[in-house]
Amino acid sequence: MARRNLRRFTRGLRFRLTASYALFFAVLLFGVAALFRERLSYTLDQQVHDVLEQEWAALKGYLKIERGQVNWYYDPEDPDESFIVERMKQVFLMTDAQGHNLGASTQYQVLGIDPAEQIRAAVRESVASESPGSAGKAFWRVRYNASGTPFLIRSGVVYDEGHHAPYYVAIGRSLAGNEAVLRGFTWIYVGIIPGALVLGSLLGWFMAGRALTPVLAIARTAQNISGSNLSLRIPTRQSGDELDYLALTFNRMIDRLESSFQQIRQFSTDVSHELRTPITAIRGQLEVALFTAQTPEQYREAMFNALQDIERLSQIVRALLLLSQAESGQLALQKSRLNLSGVVADLVEQFQIPAEAAHVRLTAHQARDVFAEADRIQIERMITNLLSNAIKFTPPGGDVRVGLRELPGRVEITVQDTGCGIPSAHLPHIFDRFYRVTGEGTAPAPEQGLGLGLSFVSWIVKAHRGKIEVDSTPGVGTRFTILLPAPGIGSDTMELAQPATTQMNEL
Ligand code: ADP
Repeated sequence: MARRNLRRFTRGLRFRLTASYALFFAVLLFGVAALFRERLSYTLDQQVHDVLEQEWAALKGYLKIERGQVNWYYDPEDPDESFIVERMKQVFLMTDAQGHNLGASTQYQVLGIDPAEQIRAAVRESVASESPGSAGKAFWRVRYNASGTPFLIRSGVVYDEGHHAPYYVAIGRSLAGNEAVLRGFTWIYVGIIPGALVLGSLLGWFMAGRALTPVLAIARTAQNISGSNLSLRIPTRQSGDELDYLALTFNRMIDRLESSFQQIRQFSTDVSHELRTPITAIRGQLEVALFTAQTPEQYREAMFNALQDIERLSQIVRALLLLSQAESGQLALQKSRLNLSGVVADLVEQFQIPAEAAHVRLTAHQARDVFAEADRIQIERMITNLLSNAIKFTPPGGDVRVGLRELPGRVEITVQDTGCGIPSAHLPHIFDRFYRVTGEGTAPAPEQGLGLGLSFVSWIVKAHRGKIEVDSTPGVGTRFTILLPAPGIGSDTMELAQPATTQMNEL
């Protein structure tokens, strides 16, 4: 359990952010420290090197070798001169070319007199490398005394008076001061880096926590959201950063979910309502028949009425099934190059009989051979629904006109009537399932529809990547306009929108 918690903790974004931040800082601090230490060490050594080089140059002025004798020429009264010479003499060695010791300071003896073989080789090398005007070769070495203190030794060849014989001379300086500076520097850094790291990590932990607070708020809100509790929203901080954007996107997603849930709930209520009415009627008719009917005619009439209601029930169920198949994408379109002019002409001819029965004049105004890339059955269903509505809602003596024409990049189909019209308050809803216009200013339809026809029309138009608009004025009439992409026109070129509704002023 504890291990699982630890694992969850170390996998947390906050921990990982802080850890990467601390790691980055550690590498940076150690890197900079190492680089700086290296540079400091080099500079300090270089300083000792330069000082020794200067002392070597000065040495030639103070040191005189006469017949193998070492003599220092300087003014003991001059504090500067005596200081310099005393310094040189502290770490000093002089031998002849064969390596015989002619004078060595105590400190040099502690370091150990250079082996004679090595001295002879150095003298040979130095003499050989000499050229007129140039000094002999300089040899540099670091040597350690018994207690491990390093000394930088500079050696080379010096000639006696008259330039008769070469002598080997070495001077040196302790590097202990440099070591101490570097040690001090290292200790300061060793002390500072962990402290800086701890502070930096705490700061990182705090900042990561602050930055992730909205993420946790999103997670908490998401946990509390359920189908019955979709009103929750994540508070945004109005900072305009990415997390605000995430919260906003999440809120918008819940908005959409809420409206979908609302639609589904509404739909279930509508369906139950729609199904309940015929079921109650059937039940009533059957009960009446069972308890009160006496003659076969009375039974027959009850059964006939019940059958009619059952027919309506099956209609609703069939339409719902089809609509749900359509909306869930199971109803695939069978598109082909379709001659819309032929389809419109056929349908207008078929609808002449119901139009005559309703005393409505049905006419077609269409160009010849207008084509579209479309599914014949669905396009027929779409026009059928619009035509039957137009005839149904147009009083006797009225007009229904179907239009078809080609526009640049699109094909336009219109179905317009001089019927009762639709009040503007209802226009945004007429494409909703089960929506039927009721109330004042609406002529009662001769027969009550299912309120599903226009939902179908809307789906068919959408599935063809088209657009539908409705203009209507109560008492004047209604016009449905459908725009479909012309064959060969990419679907993106048409602006696809939800059904648009406006008031129609003139038919
Ligand atoms: P219905 O099966 O009831 O016709 P629809 O979805 O086809 O269902 O239409 C929804 C509602 O829109 C109808 O009940 C009617 O009130 C209104 N409507 C549709 N077409 C017309 C029209 N041409 N004229 C007037 N009202 C219409």
